[in-house]
Parts: sequence; C-alpha cells; structure tokens
Amino acid sequence: MAKKLAVFPGSFDPITVGHIDLIKRAIPLFDEIIVAIGVNNQKSYLFSLEQRLQWLNKVFENDSNIYVDHFEGLTVNYCNKLGAKYLLRGLRNAADFDYEKTISQLNFIIGNDIETVFLISKPEYSHISSTIVREIIKGQGDVSKFVPENIAKDLENNK
Ligand code: ADP
Repeated sequence: MAKKLAVFPGSFDPITVGHIDLIKRAIPLFDEIIVAIGVNNQKSYLFSLEQRLQWLNKVFENDSNIYVDHFEGLTVNYCNKLGAKYLLRGLRNAADFDYEKTISQLNFIIGNDIETVFLISKPEYSHISSTIVREIIKGQGDVSKFVPENIAKDLENNK
C-alpha cells in the first residue's frame, strides 16, 4: 500500500511550541509528515529561509517520520509532486476555522481530492502564534516559553 504522506505547510517564522505539539500529535495518523516552508516572494519574513530550515531540521532531527522541506508555488502542486494526499493544519480559534475552511475547500478542488486534516490546538497553546512571537522578539522580549529551547538560545545569543 502507498505510504500515507501528510504535508504540514506554513511559514514557521519562527516555529513555535504550538506547531511542534500539533505535528507530534499527528505522527500516529500518517506514515510520514513533511513539514514544509511555503516560500512566497511577495511576503517579507523576519527570519531567512535558511535560518527557518535550520531550526526545523534541528527540532525534528530525532524524529524518523518527520521530514523538513520548502516549496514555491501552490501547496497542492507540491503535495501532488510528492504524492501526499493529506494536508495537516491546526485550528486555534474561530478565526482560524473561517480562514482554513475556505482554503481547504479550494485545495480539495484544485488539488484533486487532497484532504485537509485539522487538529485543534491544546488550550495551553492556542494563544501562541508566530506573529505574536515575532512582535515580542522585535521588542527584545523573552520568547523562551513559546519556542523550542535551541531557538530561544540562538535568539538570546543574537541579542
Ligand atoms: P501560515 O503562514 O500558513 O499561517 P504558520 O506557520 O503561521 O503558517 O502556521 C501553520 C499552521 O500551524 C496553521 O495551520 C496554524 O493554524 C497552525 N498553528 C500555528 N500556531 C499554532 C498553535 N499555537 N497551535 C496549534 N496550531 C498552530
């Protein structure tokens, strides 16, 4: 039987403990999860692609079923290229739901039946977003409760 592959797409600018919890909880559902940074040339990021990839690779270095990658263009085209039939996304609140619902319906149509699987974030992580983390970093604040240890250390060293 073909392997069940899921793509978890995002900007991961930077990856947070909320993302990591979601990915780890999804491991039993799939054979492999590809954590993939979607590169949008119109968007500006706080951290370079190289930095974000390096952090992701470090975070998942001991997880044999989790792979790290990046892609340009439509997420569904990337999924089809890999043979991944599932997208993984997280839902923190109603705003996430409204946004994700439309995207997942579109992806199902344009991606030839790609299913988006949603996991609800744990309550202790539902207030965490990369946007908030970036704001705290820009204000020289402490994000060690929101990002993995290695990232917190790198940020501290660069202050
Ligand atoms: P994007 O730029 O596509 O919004 P993100 O990196 O911000 O990418 O998020 C990727 C996915 O991770 C989204 O589905 C988002 O809902 C989910 N996510 C983000 N933060 C959390 C969190 N704290 N708990 C659970 N899921 C989260």
